[in-house]
Amino acid sequence: MGSDPELDSGELPRSPRQAAPEASSLRLRHPPPSPSLAGRGAISRLPPPPPKATRPAMPPALDHIDAWIFDLDNTLYPASADLFGRIDVRMGLYVERLLGVDPVEARRIQKQLFREHGTTLSGLMHSHAIDPHEFLAFVHDIEMDVLAEDRRLVNAIAKLPGRKLIFTNGDADYAGRVLERLGLSRSFEAIHDIHACAYQPKPQAASYASMVEAFGVDPATSLFVEDMARNLKPAKAIGMTTVWVNNGSEFGNHEADASFIDIEIHDVGHWLDELTRGME
Ligand SMILES: [Mg+2]
Repeated sequence: MGSDPELDSGELPRSPRQAAPEASSLRLRHPPPSPSLAGRGAISRLPPPPPKATRPAMPPALDHIDAWIFDLDNTLYPASADLFGRIDVRMGLYVERLLGVDPVEARRIQKQLFREHGTTLSGLMHSHAIDPHEFLAFVHDIEMDVLAEDRRLVNAIAKLPGRKLIFTNGDADYAGRVLERLGLSRSFEAIHDIHACAYQPKPQAASYASMVEAFGVDPATSLFVEDMARNLKPAKAIGMTTVWVNNGSEFGNHEADASFIDIEIHDVGHWLDELTRGME
């Protein structure tokens, strides 16, 4: 329908003569509102306009959020899918082949690298100068048949007001495949991956700084959703609103502390569905 206020009046432009009939004839039947009456509150005596359909407001704690930033793995799909279990097997195999050790020794080394460097990739780059692209392509070469499209999540994310972004310790190729399986390939504006972080993974502070710069977001109006609690601490430190998906994923509750967790949820689809219910 027309949004031009001149068209919305429902009237054709009137000539000066029509617009200004003799005051005496009007005064008898329909005293016209005048600008001066409106200014004194005469309009308030008119019946109230019919209620408009309004978008439900965000809760006050989230009303200022204009950038919704999501971790990928075990955040946008259930931890029970256990994609990491498949990736973990591939990482073990990579270490086995790289170092010529048996599976048990490979696993011990891999876990040690993970603990000491935050990710197996960082550890291998630091200790063995591997090619990160080759490593990531190898370990992410997995079946994703356990993932299915999540219409509830797709619809809820579409309704969120503001920008929607991905911040992952994985790489963008893999993230793209996961998002495709979940039906979310068109839901996000951009992905900040481990290459973009210069291989400094979450929870290293440098990765958050690079993400904020690359996305051009203001941490004070950004919200970060993540299943590994410890990855929320640096986000909170720079002023973001933090949401912990407590879904039982591996290491998820490691170092969890209420001081840097604003909201605790169990399922991102359920949470966002509730949050956006009634929105268009
Ligand atoms: Mg995760």
